[in-house]
Amino acid sequence: MLYNSTQNKNEVVSAAQAIAQGISKDGGLFVPQEFPRYSEDDFKSLLKEDYRGRAKKVFSDFLTDFGEEEINDCVEKAYTAEKFDGSNPAPLTYTSLNGKELNILELWHGPTCAFKDMALQILPHLLTKSLKKTYDGKDAVILVATSGDTGKAALEGFKDVEHTKIIVFYPVNGVSPMQKHQMNTQEGANVKVCAIEGNFDDAQTGVKKIFTTSDISEKLAENNMLFSSANSINWGRLLPQIVYYISAYCDMVNDGKISLGDSINVVVPTGNFGNILASYYASLMGLPVNKFICASNSNNVLTDFINTGVYDKNRQFYTTVSPSMDILVSSNLERLLYKLSGDSDTMTAQWMTALKTVGKYEVPDEVKTVIKENFFGGFCDDLKTRETISRLFEEKHYLCDTHTAVAVNVYEQYVDATGDNTPAVIASTASPYKFSKAVLEAVAPNEELPANEFDMVDRLNELTGMDVPAPLAGLKNKTARFSDVIESDDMKAYVLKSLSIE
Ligand SMILES: *Cc1c(COP(=O)(O)O)cnc(C)c1O
Repeated sequence: MLYNSTQNKNEVVSAAQAIAQGISKDGGLFVPQEFPRYSEDDFKSLLKEDYRGRAKKVFSDFLTDFGEEEINDCVEKAYTAEKFDGSNPAPLTYTSLNGKELNILELWHGPTCAFKDMALQILPHLLTKSLKKTYDGKDAVILVATSGDTGKAALEGFKDVEHTKIIVFYPVNGVSPMQKHQMNTQEGANVKVCAIEGNFDDAQTGVKKIFTTSDISEKLAENNMLFSSANSINWGRLLPQIVYYISAYCDMVNDGKISLGDSINVVVPTGNFGNILASYYASLMGLPVNKFICASNSNNVLTDFINTGVYDKNRQFYTTVSPSMDILVSSNLERLLYKLSGDSDTMTAQWMTALKTVGKYEVPDEVKTVIKENFFGGFCDDLKTRETISRLFEEKHYLCDTHTAVAVNVYEQYVDATGDNTPAVIASTASPYKFSKAVLEAVAPNEELPANEFDMVDRLNELTGMDVPAPLAGLKNKTARFSDVIESDDMKAYVLKSLSIE
Protein backbone atom coordinates (compact mmCIF):
# COMPACT_ATOMS: atom_id res chain seq x y z
CA MET A 1 0.00 0.00 0.00
CA LEU A 2 1.28 3.43 -0.91
CA TYR A 3 0.57 6.86 0.52
CA ASN A 4 0.38 10.27 -1.07
CA SER A 5 0.28 13.87 0.08
CA THR A 6 -3.14 15.51 0.47
CA GLN A 7 -1.73 18.51 -1.37
CA ASN A 8 0.17 16.78 -4.16
CA LYS A 9 -0.86 13.36 -5.46
CA ASN A 10 2.48 12.95 -7.22
CA GLU A 11 4.25 12.86 -3.87
CA VAL A 12 3.96 9.09 -3.33
CA VAL A 13 5.74 7.25 -0.51
CA SER A 14 5.79 3.91 1.33
CA ALA A 15 4.31 3.54 4.82
CA ALA A 16 7.80 3.57 6.33
CA GLN A 17 8.62 6.77 4.49
CA ALA A 18 5.36 8.41 5.56
CA ILE A 19 5.99 7.53 9.21
CA ALA A 20 9.68 8.51 9.17
CA GLN A 21 9.00 11.82 7.47
CA GLY A 22 5.83 12.74 9.41
CA ILE A 23 4.63 15.41 7.00
CA SER A 24 5.03 15.83 3.25
CA LYS A 25 7.53 18.37 1.90
CA ASP A 26 4.71 20.36 0.31
CA GLY A 27 3.09 20.79 3.72
CA GLY A 28 0.39 18.20 2.96
CA LEU A 29 -0.42 15.14 5.07
CA PHE A 30 0.18 11.57 3.99
CA VAL A 31 -2.94 9.49 3.32
CA PRO A 32 -3.36 5.89 2.16
CA GLN A 33 -4.15 5.65 -1.56
CA GLU A 34 -6.88 3.13 -0.82
CA PHE A 35 -8.44 1.45 2.21
CA PRO A 36 -8.64 -2.29 2.87
CA ARG A 37 -12.24 -3.45 2.99
CA TYR A 38 -13.23 -5.97 5.68
CA SER A 39 -15.89 -8.55 4.84
CA GLU A 40 -18.27 -10.16 7.32
CA ASP A 41 -15.87 -13.12 7.51
CA ASP A 42 -13.00 -10.77 8.37
CA PHE A 43 -15.07 -9.34 11.21
CA LYS A 44 -15.98 -12.85 12.35
CA SER A 45 -12.34 -13.76 12.72
CA LEU A 46 -11.60 -10.44 14.44
CA LEU A 47 -14.31 -11.26 17.01
CA LYS A 48 -12.17 -14.17 18.20
CA GLU A 49 -9.03 -12.09 18.62
CA ASP A 50 -7.99 -9.95 21.57
CA TYR A 51 -6.93 -6.31 21.17
CA ARG A 52 -3.42 -7.25 20.12
CA GLY A 53 -4.66 -9.73 17.52
CA ARG A 54 -7.01 -7.13 16.05
CA ALA A 55 -4.21 -4.57 16.00
CA LYS A 56 -1.91 -6.96 14.12
CA LYS A 57 -4.53 -7.50 11.43
CA VAL A 58 -5.16 -3.76 10.91
CA PHE A 59 -1.46 -2.87 10.97
CA SER A 60 -0.51 -5.57 8.50
CA ASP A 61 -3.14 -4.35 6.02
CA PHE A 62 -1.78 -0.81 6.04
CA LEU A 63 1.95 -1.34 6.63
CA THR A 64 2.59 -3.62 3.69
CA ASP A 65 6.30 -2.81 3.70
CA PHE A 66 6.62 -4.20 7.24
CA GLY A 67 7.17 -7.91 7.83
CA GLU A 68 4.81 -9.95 10.01
CA GLU A 69 7.44 -10.29 12.68
CA GLU A 70 8.11 -6.59 12.75
CA ILE A 71 4.42 -5.84 13.24
CA ASN A 72 4.06 -8.50 15.93
CA ASP A 73 7.08 -7.08 17.70
CA CYS A 74 5.66 -3.52 17.67
CA VAL A 75 2.24 -4.61 18.90
CA GLU A 76 3.51 -6.94 21.62
CA LYS A 77 5.89 -4.30 22.99
CA ALA A 78 3.32 -1.51 22.95
CA TYR A 79 0.14 -3.01 24.36
CA THR A 80 1.30 -4.97 27.39
CA ALA A 81 -1.05 -5.68 30.27
CA GLU A 82 1.50 -3.99 32.51
CA LYS A 83 1.50 -0.69 30.61
CA PHE A 84 -2.25 -0.65 30.09
CA ASP A 85 -3.43 -1.78 33.48
CA GLY A 86 -5.00 -5.01 32.25
CA SER A 87 -5.30 -7.24 29.24
CA ASN A 88 -7.68 -5.05 27.23
CA PRO A 89 -6.01 -1.66 26.64
CA ALA A 90 -9.34 -0.13 25.54
CA PRO A 91 -12.19 -1.52 27.66
CA LEU A 92 -15.84 -0.50 27.38
CA THR A 93 -18.00 0.54 30.32
CA TYR A 94 -21.73 0.21 29.77
CA THR A 95 -23.73 2.80 31.65
CA SER A 96 -26.52 5.28 31.00
CA LEU A 97 -27.62 8.80 31.79
CA ASN A 98 -31.17 10.00 32.05
CA GLY A 99 -32.44 7.01 30.07
CA LYS A 100 -29.82 7.27 27.32
CA GLU A 101 -27.39 4.37 26.99
CA LEU A 102 -23.73 5.26 27.08
CA ASN A 103 -21.12 2.79 25.84
CA ILE A 104 -18.00 4.44 27.13
CA LEU A 105 -14.76 3.42 25.45
CA GLU A 106 -12.08 4.10 28.06
CA LEU A 107 -8.92 4.98 26.19
CA TRP A 108 -6.95 6.25 29.16
CA HIS A 109 -5.58 3.17 30.88
CA GLY A 110 -2.07 3.71 29.49
CA PRO A 111 1.02 5.15 31.20
CA THR A 112 0.02 8.83 30.93
CA CYS A 113 -3.72 8.40 31.53
CA ALA A 114 -4.91 9.94 28.24
CA PHE A 115 -5.91 8.33 24.96
CA LYS A 116 -2.74 9.57 23.27
CA ASP A 117 -0.98 6.53 24.77
CA MET A 118 -2.94 4.26 22.45
CA ALA A 119 -0.89 5.62 19.56
CA LEU A 120 2.22 6.94 21.26
CA GLN A 121 3.16 3.70 22.94
CA ILE A 122 3.49 2.09 19.52
CA LEU A 123 4.70 5.00 17.37
CA PRO A 124 8.34 4.86 18.59
CA HIS A 125 8.52 1.18 17.57
CA LEU A 126 6.98 1.91 14.19
CA LEU A 127 9.27 4.89 13.74
CA THR A 128 12.56 3.17 14.59
CA LYS A 129 11.69 0.36 12.18
CA SER A 130 10.66 2.90 9.52
CA LEU A 131 13.93 4.78 9.96
CA LYS A 132 15.91 1.60 9.48
CA LYS A 133 14.11 0.98 6.19
CA THR A 134 14.43 4.49 4.85
CA TYR A 135 17.18 6.49 6.53
CA ASP A 136 19.43 3.90 8.12
CA GLY A 137 21.90 5.39 10.56
CA LYS A 138 20.17 8.76 10.96
CA ASP A 139 18.73 10.11 14.19
CA ALA A 140 15.13 11.31 14.19
CA VAL A 141 14.37 14.58 15.93
CA ILE A 142 10.78 14.53 17.12
CA LEU A 143 9.19 17.96 17.48
CA VAL A 144 5.90 18.08 19.30
CA ALA A 145 3.40 20.86 19.81
CA THR A 146 1.01 19.88 22.56
CA SER A 147 -2.10 21.10 24.26
CA GLY A 148 -1.04 18.89 27.17
CA ASP A 149 -1.64 15.20 26.65
CA THR A 150 0.32 14.52 23.48
CA GLY A 151 3.46 15.99 25.00
CA LYS A 152 3.57 13.70 27.97
CA ALA A 153 2.50 10.65 26.00
CA ALA A 154 5.16 11.31 23.36
CA LEU A 155 7.87 11.88 25.99
CA GLU A 156 6.94 8.66 27.73
CA GLY A 157 6.87 6.75 24.44
CA PHE A 158 10.18 8.09 23.13
CA LYS A 159 12.25 8.38 26.31
CA ASP A 160 15.62 6.72 25.80
CA VAL A 161 14.58 5.22 22.46
CA GLU A 162 17.75 4.77 20.41
CA HIS A 163 18.32 7.11 17.47
CA THR A 164 15.65 9.55 18.61
CA LYS A 165 15.58 12.94 20.32
CA ILE A 166 12.37 14.61 21.36
CA ILE A 167 11.54 18.29 22.00
CA VAL A 168 8.09 19.22 23.31
CA PHE A 169 6.56 22.72 23.19
CA TYR A 170 3.44 23.58 25.18
CA PRO A 171 1.46 26.82 25.68
CA VAL A 172 2.59 28.24 29.02
CA ASN A 173 -0.93 28.95 30.28
CA GLY A 174 -2.75 26.38 28.20
CA VAL A 175 -2.26 23.14 30.11
CA SER A 176 -3.43 21.90 33.51
CA PRO A 177 -1.00 21.96 36.47
CA MET A 178 -1.03 18.16 36.42
CA GLN A 179 -0.16 18.07 32.72
CA LYS A 180 2.62 20.60 33.27
CA HIS A 181 4.07 18.62 36.15
CA GLN A 182 3.82 15.39 34.16
CA MET A 183 5.92 16.92 31.38
CA ASN A 184 8.39 18.90 33.44
CA THR A 185 9.32 15.85 35.50
CA GLN A 186 9.91 13.64 32.47
CA GLU A 187 12.89 11.30 32.69
CA GLY A 188 15.15 10.29 29.81
CA ALA A 189 18.44 11.46 28.34
CA ASN A 190 16.99 12.36 24.92
CA VAL A 191 14.10 14.59 26.04
CA LYS A 192 13.56 18.36 26.27
CA VAL A 193 10.45 20.29 27.34
CA CYS A 194 9.80 24.00 26.79
CA ALA A 195 6.83 26.33 27.36
CA ILE A 196 6.00 29.05 24.84
CA GLU A 197 4.22 32.38 25.31
CA GLY A 198 1.09 31.84 23.25
CA ASN A 199 -1.64 29.27 22.74
CA PHE A 200 -1.61 25.78 21.23
CA ASP A 201 -2.12 27.05 17.70
CA ASP A 202 0.99 29.23 18.06
CA ALA A 203 2.97 26.18 19.18
CA GLN A 204 1.60 24.06 16.34
CA THR A 205 2.22 26.75 13.73
CA GLY A 206 5.77 27.17 15.05
CA VAL A 207 6.48 23.46 14.76
CA LYS A 208 4.99 23.22 11.27
CA LYS A 209 7.10 26.18 10.20
CA ILE A 210 10.29 24.56 11.47
CA PHE A 211 9.40 21.34 9.63
CA THR A 212 8.97 23.10 6.32
CA THR A 213 11.91 25.54 6.53
CA SER A 214 14.56 24.09 4.25
CA ASP A 215 17.65 25.68 5.83
CA ILE A 216 16.90 24.00 9.16
CA SER A 217 16.31 20.65 7.48
CA GLU A 218 19.62 21.02 5.64
CA LYS A 219 21.40 21.81 8.87
CA LEU A 220 19.98 18.65 10.40
CA ALA A 221 20.94 16.61 7.35
CA GLU A 222 24.55 17.83 7.64
CA ASN A 223 24.52 16.49 11.16
CA ASN A 224 23.01 13.14 10.23
CA MET A 225 19.58 13.95 11.66
CA LEU A 226 16.11 14.43 10.28
CA PHE A 227 12.86 15.80 11.64
CA SER A 228 9.91 13.63 12.36
CA SER A 229 6.62 14.22 14.04
CA ALA A 230 4.70 12.58 16.84
CA ASN A 231 1.70 14.86 16.34
CA SER A 232 -1.41 13.41 14.83
CA ILE A 233 -0.31 14.69 11.44
CA ASN A 234 1.94 11.57 11.44
CA TRP A 235 0.30 8.53 9.85
CA GLY A 236 1.85 6.39 12.59
CA ARG A 237 -0.34 8.24 15.10
CA LEU A 238 -3.59 7.79 13.23
CA LEU A 239 -3.31 4.16 12.26
CA PRO A 240 -3.26 2.80 15.84
CA GLN A 241 -6.42 4.79 16.55
CA ILE A 242 -8.38 2.94 13.86
CA VAL A 243 -7.83 -0.27 15.82
CA TYR A 244 -9.79 0.67 18.92
CA TYR A 245 -12.97 1.52 17.03
CA ILE A 246 -12.90 -1.86 15.32
CA SER A 247 -12.01 -3.55 18.59
CA ALA A 248 -14.82 -1.78 20.49
CA TYR A 249 -17.30 -2.90 17.85
CA CYS A 250 -16.11 -6.51 18.23
CA ASP A 251 -16.36 -6.27 22.02
CA MET A 252 -19.93 -4.97 21.76
CA VAL A 253 -20.86 -7.88 19.50
CA ASN A 254 -19.20 -10.36 21.85
CA ASP A 255 -20.94 -8.75 24.84
CA GLY A 256 -24.32 -9.11 23.12
CA LYS A 257 -24.89 -5.35 22.94
CA ILE A 258 -25.24 -5.45 19.16
CA SER A 259 -25.26 -8.09 16.42
CA LEU A 260 -22.60 -8.34 13.75
CA GLY A 261 -23.60 -5.99 10.94
CA ASP A 262 -25.55 -3.56 13.15
CA SER A 263 -24.66 0.10 12.85
CA ILE A 264 -23.24 2.18 15.65
CA ASN A 265 -22.75 5.90 16.20
CA VAL A 266 -19.46 7.23 17.44
CA VAL A 267 -19.09 10.27 19.67
CA VAL A 268 -15.67 11.88 19.93
CA PRO A 269 -14.49 14.86 21.98
CA THR A 270 -12.53 16.57 19.27
CA GLY A 271 -9.59 18.93 19.02
CA ASN A 272 -7.17 18.26 16.20
CA PHE A 273 -9.66 15.91 14.50
CA GLY A 274 -7.33 12.88 14.68
CA ASN A 275 -9.42 10.65 16.89
CA ILE A 276 -12.69 11.17 15.04
CA LEU A 277 -10.91 10.84 11.68
CA ALA A 278 -9.67 7.40 12.76
CA SER A 279 -13.29 6.33 13.27
CA TYR A 280 -14.14 7.66 9.82
CA TYR A 281 -11.26 5.68 8.33
CA ALA A 282 -12.54 2.58 10.16
CA SER A 283 -15.89 3.11 8.45
CA LEU A 284 -14.15 3.23 5.05
CA MET A 285 -12.86 -0.25 5.94
CA GLY A 286 -16.35 -1.57 6.53
CA LEU A 287 -17.12 -0.66 10.14
CA PRO A 288 -20.84 0.20 10.01
CA VAL A 289 -21.03 3.73 11.43
CA ASN A 290 -24.28 5.63 11.07
CA LYS A 291 -23.22 9.03 12.43
CA PHE A 292 -19.96 10.63 13.54
CA ILE A 293 -20.77 12.97 16.38
CA CYS A 294 -18.10 15.62 16.73
CA ALA A 295 -18.09 17.20 20.20
CA SER A 296 -16.31 20.51 20.83
CA ASN A 297 -15.96 22.85 23.80
CA SER A 298 -16.48 26.62 23.48
CA ASN A 299 -13.81 26.64 20.76
CA ASN A 300 -16.55 25.47 18.43
CA VAL A 301 -14.98 26.08 15.05
CA LEU A 302 -15.78 22.50 14.00
CA THR A 303 -19.43 22.73 15.07
CA ASP A 304 -19.82 25.75 12.83
CA PHE A 305 -17.96 24.07 10.00
CA ILE A 306 -20.15 20.97 10.10
CA ASN A 307 -23.28 23.11 10.18
CA THR A 308 -22.32 25.68 7.53
CA GLY A 309 -19.40 24.37 5.45
CA VAL A 310 -17.43 27.47 6.38
CA TYR A 311 -14.25 26.99 8.37
CA ASP A 312 -13.32 30.24 10.04
CA LYS A 313 -10.57 30.37 12.63
CA ASN A 314 -10.90 34.15 13.03
CA ARG A 315 -12.69 34.10 16.34
CA GLN A 316 -12.10 34.42 20.02
CA PHE A 317 -9.93 31.72 21.56
CA TYR A 318 -11.17 30.34 24.88
CA THR A 319 -9.14 28.63 27.57
CA THR A 320 -11.50 25.95 28.90
CA VAL A 321 -11.63 23.13 31.45
CA SER A 322 -11.08 20.71 28.56
CA PRO A 323 -7.73 22.18 27.44
CA SER A 324 -6.79 19.34 25.10
CA MET A 325 -9.55 20.58 22.81
CA ASP A 326 -8.65 24.28 22.94
CA ILE A 327 -7.79 24.35 19.28
CA LEU A 328 -8.90 26.53 16.38
CA VAL A 329 -6.91 24.85 13.61
CA SER A 330 -7.82 21.17 13.46
CA SER A 331 -5.00 19.73 11.36
CA ASN A 332 -6.54 16.39 10.52
CA LEU A 333 -9.64 17.91 8.98
CA GLU A 334 -7.38 18.26 5.95
CA ARG A 335 -7.40 14.48 5.54
CA LEU A 336 -11.20 14.32 5.73
CA LEU A 337 -11.55 17.12 3.17
CA TYR A 338 -9.19 15.33 0.83
CA LYS A 339 -11.39 12.25 0.99
CA LEU A 340 -14.69 14.14 0.74
CA SER A 341 -13.49 16.14 -2.26
CA GLY A 342 -12.94 12.87 -4.13
CA ASP A 343 -9.21 12.76 -3.38
CA SER A 344 -8.68 16.22 -4.85
CA ASP A 345 -5.20 17.47 -4.00
CA THR A 346 -5.76 20.78 -5.79
CA MET A 347 -8.92 21.62 -3.85
CA THR A 348 -7.35 20.53 -0.57
CA ALA A 349 -4.29 22.66 -1.26
CA GLN A 350 -6.47 25.67 -2.07
CA TRP A 351 -8.41 25.37 1.18
CA MET A 352 -5.26 24.95 3.24
CA THR A 353 -3.65 27.95 1.56
CA ALA A 354 -6.75 30.01 2.29
CA LEU A 355 -6.64 28.84 5.91
CA LYS A 356 -3.03 29.96 6.19
CA THR A 357 -3.49 33.31 4.48
CA VAL A 358 -6.96 34.54 5.48
CA GLY A 359 -7.84 31.99 8.17
CA LYS A 360 -10.99 30.90 6.38
CA TYR A 361 -12.38 28.75 3.58
CA GLU A 362 -15.71 27.42 2.38
CA VAL A 363 -16.32 24.01 0.83
CA PRO A 364 -18.70 23.58 -2.15
CA ASP A 365 -22.27 22.34 -1.75
CA GLU A 366 -21.53 18.71 -2.71
CA VAL A 367 -19.00 18.48 0.11
CA LYS A 368 -21.34 20.23 2.55
CA THR A 369 -24.02 17.66 1.79
CA VAL A 370 -21.74 14.68 2.46
CA ILE A 371 -20.58 16.25 5.72
CA LYS A 372 -24.16 16.86 6.86
CA GLU A 373 -25.14 13.28 6.03
CA ASN A 374 -22.35 11.72 8.02
CA PHE A 375 -21.44 14.16 10.79
CA PHE A 376 -23.22 15.90 13.62
CA GLY A 377 -21.42 18.80 15.28
CA GLY A 378 -22.21 20.15 18.72
CA PHE A 379 -20.48 21.94 21.56
CA CYS A 380 -20.68 22.35 25.29
CA ASP A 381 -19.35 25.14 27.51
CA ASP A 382 -17.55 24.80 30.85
CA LEU A 383 -20.67 25.20 32.92
CA LYS A 384 -22.45 22.37 31.12
CA THR A 385 -19.28 20.27 31.17
CA ARG A 386 -19.16 20.40 34.99
CA GLU A 387 -22.88 19.85 35.20
CA THR A 388 -22.61 16.72 33.02
CA ILE A 389 -19.80 15.29 35.19
CA SER A 390 -21.94 15.92 38.24
CA ARG A 391 -25.13 14.35 36.81
CA LEU A 392 -23.33 11.22 35.62
CA PHE A 393 -21.65 10.84 38.97
CA GLU A 394 -24.85 11.43 40.95
CA GLU A 395 -26.92 9.10 38.81
CA LYS A 396 -24.49 6.27 38.05
CA HIS A 397 -21.50 6.86 40.28
CA TYR A 398 -19.41 6.96 37.11
CA LEU A 399 -16.70 9.62 37.17
CA CYS A 400 -15.58 11.03 33.84
CA ASP A 401 -13.09 13.72 32.90
CA THR A 402 -13.95 17.07 31.34
CA HIS A 403 -13.29 16.03 27.72
CA THR A 404 -15.43 12.93 28.04
CA ALA A 405 -18.15 15.06 29.65
CA VAL A 406 -18.20 17.31 26.58
CA ALA A 407 -18.80 14.21 24.47
CA VAL A 408 -21.56 12.91 26.75
CA ASN A 409 -23.29 16.29 26.74
CA VAL A 410 -23.14 16.66 22.96
CA TYR A 411 -24.41 13.10 22.61
CA GLU A 412 -27.43 14.00 24.76
CA GLN A 413 -28.02 17.02 22.52
CA TYR A 414 -27.82 14.76 19.48
CA VAL A 415 -30.35 12.24 20.76
CA ASP A 416 -32.71 15.01 21.87
CA ALA A 417 -32.47 16.67 18.46
CA THR A 418 -32.80 13.55 16.32
CA GLY A 419 -34.35 10.76 18.40
CA ASP A 420 -31.67 8.48 16.93
CA ASN A 421 -31.10 5.62 19.37
CA THR A 422 -28.44 3.75 17.40
CA PRO A 423 -26.02 2.35 20.02
CA ALA A 424 -23.27 4.91 20.47
CA VAL A 425 -19.62 4.40 21.35
CA ILE A 426 -18.41 7.40 23.30
CA ALA A 427 -14.66 7.91 23.26
CA SER A 428 -13.46 8.65 26.80
CA THR A 429 -10.13 10.34 26.34
CA ALA A 430 -8.64 10.98 29.78
CA SER A 431 -8.70 9.84 33.38
CA PRO A 432 -10.77 12.20 35.54
CA TYR A 433 -7.74 12.53 37.82
CA LYS A 434 -5.83 14.24 35.05
CA PHE A 435 -8.21 17.19 35.35
CA SER A 436 -8.89 16.97 39.08
CA LYS A 437 -9.63 20.64 39.66
CA ALA A 438 -12.55 20.90 37.27
CA VAL A 439 -13.82 17.43 38.15
CA LEU A 440 -13.70 18.24 41.86
CA GLU A 441 -15.50 21.53 41.27
CA ALA A 442 -18.15 19.52 39.45
CA VAL A 443 -18.78 16.84 42.07
CA ALA A 444 -18.31 19.06 45.13
CA PRO A 445 -19.31 22.58 44.00
CA ASN A 446 -19.72 23.93 47.52
CA GLU A 447 -16.35 22.86 48.88
CA GLU A 448 -13.34 25.08 49.14
CA LEU A 449 -10.68 23.68 46.79
CA PRO A 450 -7.47 22.30 48.28
CA ALA A 451 -4.39 24.39 47.57
CA ASN A 452 -2.55 22.18 45.12
CA GLU A 453 -3.34 19.67 42.42
CA PHE A 454 -2.19 16.65 44.41
CA ASP A 455 -4.40 17.48 47.36
CA MET A 456 -7.25 17.80 44.87
CA VAL A 457 -6.49 14.30 43.60
CA ASP A 458 -6.60 12.99 47.18
CA ARG A 459 -9.84 14.78 47.93
CA LEU A 460 -11.46 13.51 44.74
CA ASN A 461 -10.36 10.00 45.66
CA GLU A 462 -11.89 10.38 49.15
CA LEU A 463 -15.15 11.66 47.73
CA THR A 464 -15.60 9.15 44.95
CA GLY A 465 -13.67 6.07 46.05
CA MET A 466 -12.35 5.72 42.52
CA ASP A 467 -8.75 4.50 42.31
CA VAL A 468 -6.08 7.03 41.38
CA PRO A 469 -4.08 5.66 38.41
CA ALA A 470 -0.61 4.65 39.59
CA PRO A 471 1.32 6.93 37.16
CA LEU A 472 -0.49 10.00 38.51
CA ALA A 473 -0.19 8.95 42.13
CA GLY A 474 3.57 8.55 41.69
CA LEU A 475 4.07 12.08 40.36
CA LYS A 476 3.72 13.74 43.70
CA ASN A 477 7.25 12.95 44.77
CA LYS A 478 8.99 13.95 41.56
CA THR A 479 10.85 17.23 41.10
CA ALA A 480 10.74 19.25 37.88
CA ARG A 481 13.69 19.02 35.46
CA PHE A 482 12.47 21.62 32.94
CA SER A 483 11.38 25.23 33.33
CA ASP A 484 12.23 27.03 30.03
CA VAL A 485 9.69 29.56 28.73
CA ILE A 486 10.30 31.26 25.35
CA GLU A 487 8.54 33.42 22.74
CA SER A 488 7.08 31.40 19.87
CA ASP A 489 9.35 33.29 17.45
CA ASP A 490 12.34 31.78 19.22
CA MET A 491 11.35 28.16 18.71
CA LYS A 492 13.65 27.66 15.75
CA ALA A 493 16.70 28.92 17.65
CA TYR A 494 15.71 26.82 20.64
CA VAL A 495 15.59 23.67 18.55
CA LEU A 496 19.01 24.26 16.99
CA LYS A 497 20.49 25.04 20.40
CA SER A 498 18.98 21.96 21.98
CA LEU A 499 20.52 19.84 19.25
CA SER A 500 23.88 21.66 19.64
CA ILE A 501 23.96 22.57 15.94
CA GLU A 502 23.48 26.38 16.07
C1 LIG B 1 -5.93 15.12 22.37
C2 LIG B 1 -7.15 15.01 23.18
C3 LIG B 1 -8.41 15.22 22.62
C4 LIG B 1 -8.60 15.64 21.18
O1 LIG B 1 -8.27 14.62 20.27
P1 LIG B 1 -7.99 14.95 18.74
O2 LIG B 1 -7.53 13.67 18.14
O3 LIG B 1 -6.93 16.00 18.73
O4 LIG B 1 -9.26 15.44 18.15
C5 LIG B 1 -9.51 15.04 23.43
N1 LIG B 1 -9.39 14.71 24.74
C6 LIG B 1 -8.18 14.51 25.30
C7 LIG B 1 -8.11 14.18 26.75
C8 LIG B 1 -7.03 14.65 24.55
O5 LIG B 1 -5.84 14.45 25.13
